[in-house]
Amino acid sequence: SGPSADALLEGLNEPQRAAVVHAGAPLLVVAGAGSGKTRVLTRRIAWTISERKAHPGSILAITFTNKAAAEMKERVEELVGRRARIMWVSTFHSACVRILRKEIGALEREGGTWKSNFSIYDAQDQKRLMTLVVQDLDLDPKRYQPGALLHWVSNHKNELRDAEQATAEARNKLEETYAAAYTLYQRRLREANALDFDDLIMTTVHLFDAFPEIKETYRRRFRHVLVDEYQDTNHAQYALIHSLCADPLEQEATRPEGERVPPAELMVVGDADQSIYAFRGANIRNILDFEEDFPDATTILLEQNYRSTQTILTAANGIIGHNKGRKPKRLWSDAGDGERIVGYVADDEHDEARFVSGEIDTLVDGGAKPGDVAVFYRTNAQSRVFEEIFIRTGQPYKVVGGVRFYERREVRDALAYLRMLANPEDQVSLRRILNTPKRGIGDRAVACVAAYAERERISFWAALQRAEEAPGLATRSLSCIRGFVDLVQELQSMVDAGERADVVLETTLERSGYLASLEESDDPQDATRLENLAELVAVAREFAEDPQAGPSADPADVDAGLVEPGLTDFLERVALVADTDQIPDDPDGEDVGVVTLMTLHTAKGLEFPIVFLTGLEDGVFPHSRALGDQTELEEERRLAYVGVTRSRERLYLSRAVVRSAWGAPSHNPASRFLDEMPVDLVDWRRTEAAQTRWSRPDLSGSLGAPGGGLGSPTASGRRNFSAAAARADAASKSRKPARAIPSLTAGDRVTHDSFGLGTVVSVEGEADRAVASIDFGSDGVKRLLLRYAPVEKL
Ligand code: ATP
Ligand code: MG
Repeated sequence: SGPSADALLEGLNEPQRAAVVHAGAPLLVVAGAGSGKTRVLTRRIAWTISERKAHPGSILAITFTNKAAAEMKERVEELVGRRARIMWVSTFHSACVRILRKEIGALEREGGTWKSNFSIYDAQDQKRLMTLVVQDLDLDPKRYQPGALLHWVSNHKNELRDAEQATAEARNKLEETYAAAYTLYQRRLREANALDFDDLIMTTVHLFDAFPEIKETYRRRFRHVLVDEYQDTNHAQYALIHSLCADPLEQEATRPEGERVPPAELMVVGDADQSIYAFRGANIRNILDFEEDFPDATTILLEQNYRSTQTILTAANGIIGHNKGRKPKRLWSDAGDGERIVGYVADDEHDEARFVSGEIDTLVDGGAKPGDVAVFYRTNAQSRVFEEIFIRTGQPYKVVGGVRFYERREVRDALAYLRMLANPEDQVSLRRILNTPKRGIGDRAVACVAAYAERERISFWAALQRAEEAPGLATRSLSCIRGFVDLVQELQSMVDAGERADVVLETTLERSGYLASLEESDDPQDATRLENLAELVAVAREFAEDPQAGPSADPADVDAGLVEPGLTDFLERVALVADTDQIPDDPDGEDVGVVTLMTLHTAKGLEFPIVFLTGLEDGVFPHSRALGDQTELEEERRLAYVGVTRSRERLYLSRAVVRSAWGAPSHNPASRFLDEMPVDLVDWRRTEAAQTRWSRPDLSGSLGAPGGGLGSPTASGRRNFSAAAARADAASKSRKPARAIPSLTAGDRVTHDSFGLGTVVSVEGEADRAVASIDFGSDGVKRLLLRYAPVEKL
């Protein structure tokens, strides 16, 4: 017996209940932030299973991130029990992968059909492939940048325009060239039996269009479709929903009455004010036009916010009220006014980070948990300064969407091995590891094989296997290639035998010589690489031992214990880990958590008791790109609205007077969003007037006491204050290096004023002449003369 109907409706207000129990016509729930849209969607699933006796397998719920999907599933299971496990709660991408793994064989490609073990190319793979395309087409990579081409291709895919259409529509030379790149890029993907992220959706839509009987299978299966964050769906996603839920299929009309399948029940929830993915093709019209797209739709509005204090809501409403042409909302809270918002004007980004860090200390001393705190910024690069200070003060933190585990070189190498084993036609992966570790297969040999593959119109892997027929290959290269082919075939036999992902991975690292090459190396970074690989093996093991792990398997089979997760499932899980899914579980199991750093975009849908919204400067947030463009500015404003409304109890707003961008300091005026909030909500701890006075060098001697009228500074305020003084002091002294040259050795962790955190790769020369090569992650390896470089050893 399930939960009582009362229990399922408990803690919901009237319109929320109405949305939960609504049956029949398509339902749209539109409401401002924190009004319980996600809660209603979750309860509706539970209600549909428990009260309306829907089979859990007939439910398809779409969330924006895999993490949100996992949480939603867990919540529904709590309400209705284990049988809920077989419902599909996932992102658009994951749902499409599942469908395609089963059905893609129906689609043709050169020389055959697609295979269900297709690879999923992520941003890095795409870039590598597009770079090859640019080379193959003999294009100038300066003029035709792979990133720009990919963006263009992505826009087309989100609009469901394939390469042929793009070619037909090209109106000038430039567009023709772009279309040619799109065409070749798609051909290479097909040859590699690979899909990129946008393809996952476009291909599923095409599949449904081309094969009505396949579409019908899924229309019969999914009787209840629910979509969260509907305002951020793009055209392709909309088309997918439409083909599952809109008017009945043509064949339906010719069927006898009793055999007709009515369209699925559809519920979408969203908030047009929170649409922040236009740059990825999200179309705000999808939510605005819902009632036209689904003519018999019912709309429910929610107006009470349960997340934030009235102060926070008033600030949010103040900002979003400046957007034109929106439907005004009456969002209110009965949580009371709560704390005033705290504002801070920093000298520079370091001072801002110190303020945030000091304030967190104070809050934690006062009983807050680090896990309650989130620090938001507009662009990923802004995380560095915060990371530096948290490392220094020992404040545990996590960066959501920063340099990620899965982007590290060794992890990508290992995954390339696995992907190549699962799908040997995956040329990008195959070529990545062909000579990694070095096994005597040089660029010339690769070029010979590639040319041979091209001429024979066979895959790169097939060409490797027939390498003795490839003209121009040196005997030595040939025997190296034979060794490699033997290795791959041996490893593939494990995969064919259904060996677990962790076992395949460990054996591969061992037999390929990859581990040995790291173990023999005296580069200290390679020790870290070994640790990361050990971590990856642990991830694979955990996955293999998780009975629910196989996402591509039919959940009903998993439930029946029929399917063991295999290598393909593991690779899929890894490939689908989106930026927002990088929030690890609390490592020590204690409930204090760590401070979360993330961009505003990844904060969507989440909530935190305490939020720091940083970098509130025109040119930073709103982004410089948006300053002269009304449409983009409105999108930035929605982003600000999203940011402010993540906060439940306390909100901090900060900006820096000077911020270094690309190594040069820039002076940014206050963000216009600050002026758009009612002034009396914000308690300015430090204003620009104070800042100017405090940092004037001639006052550096008399900085002992803060000026009047500023209120009493907090402990952290005082810390910043003395830091400002110290800097002013240093600036007033002569120009000779004020500090000792740091003595560094390979492996040391350092921080650089502009590049942020880095690891020393090597050091040459001594004393004044010492030059260090330092790896700054995504900024690359820099050679720096230590005498001048603003580098500090950590
Ligand atoms: P967003 O637009 O940011 O995605 P949302 O509309 O999805 O927000 P939820 O995240 O579902 O809002 O809810 C916000 C908070 O309010 C959550 O903590 C939720 O548990 C709580 N909440 C929602 N409805 C109620 C209610 N009727 N009574 C008490 N708390 C509620
Ligand atoms: Mg939500």
